[in-house]
Order: sequence, then structure tokens, then C-alpha cells
Amino acid sequence: MHSVEEALELVSKHTIPLPTHECDAVDALGSALAEDLISDSDSPMFDKAMMDGYAVIAADLADGPANLEVVAEIAAGVTTDEVIRPGTCARIMTGAPMPPGADSVALVENSQIDSENVYRVTITQSISAGKNVLKKGALLSQGQIVLSAGSLIRPIEVGILSDMAKGKATVHQSPSISIISTGDELVEAGQETGPGQIRNSNGPMLEAMAREAGATVTQLGIVRDQRADLADAISKGLESDIMILSGGVSSGVLDLVPSELSAHGVEQIFHKVCIKPGKPLWFGKRVEGDKTTLVFGLPGNPVSSLVCFHLFVRRALNRLMGRADTPLYVPGFQLTRDFVNEGDRPVYFPAMACRKEGAGATISPLNWKGSADLATLAMANSLASFAPNTQYEAGQFISAVMV
Ligand code: AMP
Ligand code: MG
Repeated sequence: MHSVEEALELVSKHTIPLPTHECDAVDALGSALAEDLISDSDSPMFDKAMMDGYAVIAADLADGPANLEVVAEIAAGVTTDEVIRPGTCARIMTGAPMPPGADSVALVENSQIDSENVYRVTITQSISAGKNVLKKGALLSQGQIVLSAGSLIRPIEVGILSDMAKGKATVHQSPSISIISTGDELVEAGQETGPGQIRNSNGPMLEAMAREAGATVTQLGIVRDQRADLADAISKGLESDIMILSGGVSSGVLDLVPSELSAHGVEQIFHKVCIKPGKPLWFGKRVEGDKTTLVFGLPGNPVSSLVCFHLFVRRALNRLMGRADTPLYVPGFQLTRDFVNEGDRPVYFPAMACRKEGAGATISPLNWKGSADLATLAMANSLASFAPNTQYEAGQFISAVMV
């Protein structure tokens, strides 16, 4: 049985980023940059006034207030050839290019217009050279790497991309995922349950996780634990980049998923991972021509499904999208209570992590009742990571996976 780290390595090894395309910056939201973004100009492109006021020579105000001649008025988007010489200034608006000769902007609040002569102004305070001016190239130099390949495109990155001449982003295609929920006991969400039946909570939950991660989803619905039904759904699911099946991967007589996947030419890469919850996880791939489909068989218990998606499916999704791997564990959480992991597998235990001012970060394992208990998970923001056969004491530091 593989360790979590070995299983993650295998997922990475078998996942090749999807092809790239160019799109408008805003349409790249949620994707990852496929290439470094290099600044095509200095930013700002000119020395820029950062306040409304007067573009002055600071030295003119070295001895305190000074009465200056106003030789130009410069609005944002306008340039002037008028040179500011000692004893003169220009009225200037926020965002306007500085006129040649001036080195700083005196605030309009620190000025008094001469009532006799509108072409003269008294600046009432001294100013240091460079004040309220953003120099050309102060934010970015031409040729500098602004964003590196693999960066996630959030609204901030959309803004940065749109500030470039091209206004476009080169990104990997977003992955397609199909979801199959297996089980004779399942009825659709919102339906009445008969004796022994349960609602399909995994299907919609996995769809939500996939959508949140930037994938497009095809729901293939509930499939009975019968070969013919399963075969039909698997054939459809193999058209996607990733096919997820929930349930049917354990060792029961009706756990038909692994054998039915083999019958469809899906090569098993691993079955079972040393983890709790999530041990029965199945991973494989089918390559046909230039189409590769990654296949995850997730254990049916909702928390097992969620944890396996979080750890393993997400790794594959990130890779397909060309996103840089993010570290799985966040270290440095102090346990608020004793905890014993008597089992022989590492446990990812639903917990509430908390950063308290002055007290560092603490973590409280919740009163979780096992892999069917999704309700307690709603109160968790993390999975506390506990090694097998280990006793932990309150105050000890551990790592966690944020969910
Ligand atoms: P399985 O992995 O098929 O053996 O299922 C393990 C447990 O998860 C069983 O108690 C199932 O009833 C439950 N389960 C399976 N599929 C789902 C689902 N789609 N939604 C909620 N629970 C499920
Ligand atoms: Mg089942």
C-alpha cells in the first residue's frame, strides 16, 4: 500500500498539463499562466503626479513659502513641453505627467491663488524633492518578470495582465471532469428515501469542489451496482480529462468499479493508500490516441470522498491546469487537547485551526464521528495530521492541511 506522498508522486507523474491557448485577461480568471509574464514597458511610463496641486522645483521652497508664476495646466492624459524654471510652476492633476524641470508636487491644500493675478500662486509649505511624484519605472521595469508561469490568475492578476500592451493571457485549457455516483442505495438529492436508501450527497459535493477548482463538470448521475449500467457511464466518462467515480472501490461483492475500469482499458496505477479516511482510493489512466483520461475511484463515504478529492484529485487538476504545486501541509499548529491515533495509518482529522494574537496558531480536533460524518466537517477549516500509533499531548505542535 502506498503512502500519501508516494501516491501524490504517482498522480503527478501521470498528469501532463493540458494544451495552452490565448484569451482575454478577464477570461483567464481561475486559470494558471502558462508562461512568464514579462513587462513590456516601464510602469509608470512617465514621471507621474500622485496628487492634485502644483508641479514645482523643491529648491524654490527651501526658505519657506514662495510666490510662483503658473506657466501651464496639465490634466491626466495630457503632456506639456513647457519647462518649469526657478520661480515658476504648473497646475497639475493626479495622474498627469510631470512637466520637464519640476521635481515635486505641492498639494493644492498648501496653496493660495493670488487674488490679483490668477497666473500666480503662493505655495505655503516647503517640500522635499520627489514628493508626490511616482518616477518612471518605479513600479516595474521593462523586461522584468511580473508574474511567473504557473501563477493562479485572480482578479489582481487580471489587472496586471490588462496593464500590458497585449491585454491577453496564455493559459492551459480548463480541465473537464465527469462524475459518476455508484450505489444501489442512492436516490437523487431532494428525493424521498425508501427503507435503507440514502441521498446522493457526493455527486453535487464533488461537482462543487471541481467547479471551485476551475474545471467544467459533466454529471453522469447515479449508477446502480450493475455491470451494464456502470459500463455505459464509464464509456461516457472517459471522454473527459478526469473521470471521478464515487463508491464501489472497496472489497465488497458489489464493488465493481476496479474490474469494470480494467475492462474499459483503464490501467490501474494504484489501489489503496495508507490514509484514514480514504484507504480504498483507486487511481488509473486510459490513453487512447492523444486523449488521456485520469480516473479516480473515490470511497463512497462522504468525508473519505472529500479528503481524497482534496489531496489527490486536486493535485491532478492543478497539474492539468499548469498550476505550481502548493505545499500540502501547514506546520506550526499547537494542539489544544490530547489526541491518540491508535491506528496503523496516518489520520487526517477534521479540526478547527485558529490564529490568536500573541498566542500563535492553535488547532482543536473536533468531535468527529467518522467518515460518514459530513456535518461535523462543516465546522472544520483544516485536517489535523496525525502519524500512526502515536500519542499526542496538548501543547504539542503538529501540521495540518487547510480545507
Ligand atoms: P462504498 O464506497 O460504495 O462502499 O460506500 C461506502 C459508504 O458510503 C456507504 O455507506 C454508502 O452508502 C456511502 N455512499 C456511497 N455513495 C454515496 C454518495 N454518493 N453519497 C453519499 N454517501 C454515499
Ligand atoms: Mg457502494
